[in-house]
Amino acid sequence: MKRVLVGPIFLFFLLFSTLSVAAQESTRVTAIRAGHMIDVEAGRLIDNQIILIEHGLITAIGSNISIPSGAEVIDLSDSYVLPGLIDAHTHLAMTEMPGADINDHGTYYYTTLLEPTAFRAIQGVAQARTLLESGFTWVRDVGNNALYADVALRRAVEGGWIPGPNIIASGIIIAPFGGQFQMQPEKPDLGNPEYIYADTEDEIRLAVRKNIHYGATVIKLVTDNQPYIYSVEDIAAAVDEAGDVGIKVAAHASSDEGIRRATLAGVVSIEHGTRPTDKTLRLMKEMGTVLVGTDFPATRNGAERHAALVDRIRRAYEIGTPMAFGSDVEYYREGWTRGELTLEFLDSYTDAELPADYILKMFTLFAADLLGVNSGVLKQGAAADIVAVDHNPLDDINAIRGVHFVMKDGRVYKQDGRFEWETPRVMNNPRRKPQRR
Ligand SMILES: [Zn+2]
Repeated sequence: MKRVLVGPIFLFFLLFSTLSVAAQESTRVTAIRAGHMIDVEAGRLIDNQIILIEHGLITAIGSNISIPSGAEVIDLSDSYVLPGLIDAHTHLAMTEMPGADINDHGTYYYTTLLEPTAFRAIQGVAQARTLLESGFTWVRDVGNNALYADVALRRAVEGGWIPGPNIIASGIIIAPFGGQFQMQPEKPDLGNPEYIYADTEDEIRLAVRKNIHYGATVIKLVTDNQPYIYSVEDIAAAVDEAGDVGIKVAAHASSDEGIRRATLAGVVSIEHGTRPTDKTLRLMKEMGTVLVGTDFPATRNGAERHAALVDRIRRAYEIGTPMAFGSDVEYYREGWTRGELTLEFLDSYTDAELPADYILKMFTLFAADLLGVNSGVLKQGAAADIVAVDHNPLDDINAIRGVHFVMKDGRVYKQDGRFEWETPRVMNNPRRKPQRR
């Protein structure tokens, strides 16, 4: 009986709220005049486009779009406009600090042993801002963030507390005993909290559940960093458990056997993928497994190592293995921001002589597909993640090192080369856990 009374009242509120949303919408249109727009899917340039944006989404795009009266107009008629960039492999709360010897594994230990989660989360706030400044509107953070600093950063960005790219966060890396450390028997706990050791299928499933419970939106496994490596069944258990709530699994794998097993188990991406045979690269192509090569620039590798890396990029490209950009940058260099260092990885792809339009796809479209996000492309219905540069990236991909305009989810963060961050007037409390889809 009560429903009869509630029904009309509910309908009234529904109607009222719909009207008020509609009233707000009409006042919130942004229009971008794009002199040159990159259609990343087709790998071509289209001139004189109008992009309309409402509520964070691209609502119309084309040459014959009329700009509604009262719309805020952004003039990029002298610029090259493209989708926001994506780094599918980053570590926001992990930095080798100044003075560290890059060849000494101790640097990695120092951060994890000496720096508490709170300090590293604050470090992540600074890194996130520089990535957005350089044009990155999405990143996937794949671990080494102490106790869920990545999840805290994800929530802070979602809530509008800090400027940064949107974040897919892995929580704690799951790995066989020892994680990525070489420990000694008197101190077996040194890997905590950087890794969850999980050595049976049950332990792996539990570790996946813990991460999801604490707010992870991707699962990261390190499969082959120890002499003993995960079996296909081990990895498949993680893929099954995470997949049940629509969450993907990324696998750190360097050896050919590690890459092969992770691919067969159905992970969405191979991180690093250092030493695959052509046969394994073809298997990845067949399975649709994305190679996130973390292809460090020559400045970080010796000549021999860099040559091997360039050869691997070339082989993957020629075989047709899907690839998306992921940096793995965790180092520091005087005078550079994290965002600028991330873009230095372009060198590896130009060294491998990949076509500019393909490299751009790796940084946008392909990475967005991998993350499963509505970004990486400029089209109706996509998120308004839009950046602009002065030169045509299809002529020279290095043009994307000079992002002077950044919009994320319809909000402008950088204009005419100046970063703009307004103190938030409202702090939303973003969701802690991913929701079941
Ligand atoms: Zn990494």
